[in-house]
Amino acid sequence: MDCLFCKIIKGEIPSFTIYEDEQVKVFLDINPNTNGHALIVPKKHIVTINDVDEELAKHIIKVEKIIYHKLKEKLHIEGLTICQNNELGQDIKHYHVHMIPRYQDDNWKMQFNQESLKEPEEVFKQITTK
Ligand code: AMP
Ligand code: ZN
Repeated sequence: MDCLFCKIIKGEIPSFTIYEDEQVKVFLDINPNTNGHALIVPKKHIVTINDVDEELAKHIIKVEKIIYHKLKEKLHIEGLTICQNNELGQDIKHYHVHMIPRYQDDNWKMQFNQESLKEPEEVFKQITTK
């Protein structure tokens, strides 16, 4: 399969791997948002959160905590944002979790087009109407 992350997992493409076990590999993002930005990648080729079973989900949370601890100890990170894109916004179609360290001076800015949004009440009705 022509999947970049499968190739990284097999070692065919190099990566800055900071953690590995039988189920996941964790390596530094090549285009980091902040210092220490890492990706937790399951070794099995799956695409979105819909493919993640409970056992893997549990394991990923365990690894998130291990990495959080490591980054805190080694990089003195001050916070950690964990996110994961599915479909739109997902460039690599092999499931991965972003671990993005936060620092007081990181100048993090997320930009959305908030002027054009509906009222939450309207959205709530859409979601809850049968
Ligand atoms: P997403 O948009 O959620 O699919 O994120 C994909 C991430 O993979 C981006 O943050 C990229 O910078 C990162 N990325 C792409 N190629 C590599 C690579 N060869 N090694 C490490 N990270 C990569
Ligand atoms: Zn893959």
